[in-house]
Amino acid sequence: MKAIKSKISSELASLIKKAAGFHGHLGPFLVIGVRMGSLAKKILNVNAGESNKFRVTARLPLLTPFSCIIDGIQASTQCTVGNQKLRIENSQAKIIVCFEQQNLDKGLRIHVNPKIIKELKDRYSEGASNEELAREIASIPESQLFVIEKQ
Ligand SMILES: [Zn+2]
Repeated sequence: MKAIKSKISSELASLIKKAAGFHGHLGPFLVIGVRMGSLAKKILNVNAGESNKFRVTARLPLLTPFSCIIDGIQASTQCTVGNQKLRIENSQAKIIVCFEQQNLDKGLRIHVNPKIIKELKDRYSEGASNEELAREIASIPESQLFVIEKQ
């Protein structure tokens, strides 16, 4: 990844650590999920304890490593399969996650930049490690990683 690296915040670092503990390992798609969840909470102004009206719909290919995104979202938003606040839909290639703040009628759709998905696939086939790719994804700018649509 030739991106200009930005420094990662200690808040993001600790969320990633928590997500990796929950998920069982660290990887780039887990980090994508964590960054999506924390970005959506920031944009929609969702603070801890106010997430009861927050809902997430994730559309992505339901196979690893893509599905690792799901655990990143669950760890960073407290919207889970178990509490019925996270819905998962299979997608052939695209990764799109919709976040809704129901009481305020506000929403956000975050697409993962297809170039990044392709680059990760290429790097995996060249033998790059999960940890190495996770570090890179943690530090590339949001504007390169995601396309954000506000609703
Ligand atoms: Zn994983």
